[in-house]
Amino acid sequence: MGFEKFGRFGYVSQTKINPLLSYLEKGQIAATRCKKCGRTYFPPRAECLDDRQSAIEWVVLDGKGSLITFTKVFFAPPAFQPETPYLLGLAELSNGFRVFAPVSPSVDEKQLKPGKELNLKVARGSRDNLFYWLE
Ligand SMILES: [Zn+2]
Repeated sequence: MGFEKFGRFGYVSQTKINPLLSYLEKGQIAATRCKKCGRTYFPPRAECLDDRQSAIEWVVLDGKGSLITFTKVFFAPPAFQPETPYLLGLAELSNGFRVFAPVSPSVDEKQLKPGKELNLKVARGSRDNLFYWLE
């Protein structure tokens, strides 16, 4: 399946969205778009909520975004607990998507404020797992 490498986001489990991992391997972050109505999903979805059964296509995001708000996480789901405390950001991407993602440790917490420009980027974890964060 390939998802054992996608270690940090257990909510992505549908095999039809396996291409996400291929994009991450290339350093790209991709969303899915419904070919019928054009609605776009991130995290990707295998089918459109409005038109079940319709075909989807993949679109690569440029990842440019600005911070809306952020919080510091002290108590996390088991997979994330070793990383605590960490910063979790909500950002709006250039195409209007709102994305929750961890904030890269390279970002100085004191510099974070609403409107700060951050990019959604692919990161590689210590177990060679791939995920994304804001940096
Ligand atoms: Zn649709």
